[in-house]
Amino acid sequence: MVGPEIERLIQLLSRLPGLGPRSARRAALRLVERRDTLLIPLSEAMAEAAVRVKTCSVCGNFDTIDPCAICADPRRDAALLCVVEDVAGLWAMERTGCFRGRYAVLGGLLSALDGVGPEDLGIARLVDRATSSEVAEVILATPATVEGQTTAHYIADRLALCGVTVSGLAHGVPVGGELDHLDDGTITAALRARRAF
Ligand SMILES: [Zn+2]
Repeated sequence: MVGPEIERLIQLLSRLPGLGPRSARRAALRLVERRDTLLIPLSEAMAEAAVRVKTCSVCGNFDTIDPCAICADPRRDAALLCVVEDVAGLWAMERTGCFRGRYAVLGGLLSALDGVGPEDLGIARLVDRATSSEVAEVILATPATVEGQTTAHYIADRLALCGVTVSGLAHGVPVGGELDHLDDGTITAALRARRAF
């Protein structure tokens, strides 16, 4: 139906998150229809990103410089280290604009099922970093899933004797959330984490 070049484009696009084969075909069609305004600029942007974007050797963030802009910024509070699953988690924290510390990106979560162990996530390096630098508090911001919390508990255990404060994000009622729309686990967590009014 289509030439091998377009077929290859569809195949690659369908590997992107949120794009199934049908939406990949629509995206490929849109790209070739808008050759000058979309296809060529996008291919140039991707080629440039492929050359210039690298992984920060300190925290695991993506940037064009290493160490990344966050690690290199002297205004960031070196006493606070926030542990996130991936760069999407780091971006989410940065969007709030209210965290001024630094990060450690794990690049995954512990999973016996998928064969992901502590060495795959660089946890020994994280413990070294937390103990051998100015870090005073490690904030565990892994997801509120079984694997996220297993990973957080494992890191907390490893840091237990290292003389740093270990904290985790609170789990509970989201801003604007109505109790009736929440699952039982969220309500239970919110009740346990209640605070003085
Ligand atoms: Zn960094």
